[in-house]
Amino acid sequence: MPIYEFRCETCGAFDAVYRMTRVPQTCKCPSCAQEAQRLFSTAGLSRANSSQARAIDDATRTAHAPDVVANTPRHANSVGVTHDPRHAKLPRP
Ligand SMILES: [Zn+2]
Repeated sequence: MPIYEFRCETCGAFDAVYRMTRVPQTCKCPSCAQEAQRLFSTAGLSRANSSQARAIDDATRTAHAPDVVANTPRHANSVGVTHDPRHAKLPRP
């Protein structure tokens, strides 16, 4: 479940966990029980086991120190050869 940030006028900011469909605009401060306003921030969604999160982390990690590439991708070395007889009739450069 996402983590939302609230701000109590007396105690300051704190986090609370709610379902995305049931997040209130105010909630009780855990310290003083005053009403605290919800802050507009990004929801703290879990990123565990996310391929997109791994790709972002890898891109961030290698932004200033790229990984060393030992080989070029296999498809870059292959030459496309067609065996379709109609292609032999096409004009050559
Ligand atoms: Zn408070």
